[in-house]
Amino acid sequence: MTQMLDTINCSVCGHEAQRDHNLDTNEITIACDRCGFCAETEIVTDTTGRKFWLETLRFPIDEGGRVLRGPRVGQLSDVPAGGN
Ligand SMILES: [Zn+2]
Repeated sequence: MTQMLDTINCSVCGHEAQRDHNLDTNEITIACDRCGFCAETEIVTDTTGRKFWLETLRFPIDEGGRVLRGPRVGQLSDVPAGGN
């Protein structure tokens, strides 16, 4: 398993966020320490053995309960699904 760790700009706040990229499967986890934004893609297998590409996004919420999505969300979905 080949992991690549680097940093990118957070999609929500623009701050530097950690990115963990599995080069074998193209699964990516992005975690921002500043605002709490988290974006995760992973390949999951259900009970029948069928595989799925799961994307999880976690957005921070302000004091008024408003979801802070930021201006650049959507980048993660631009990443093509990996594997075969
Ligand atoms: Zn952030």
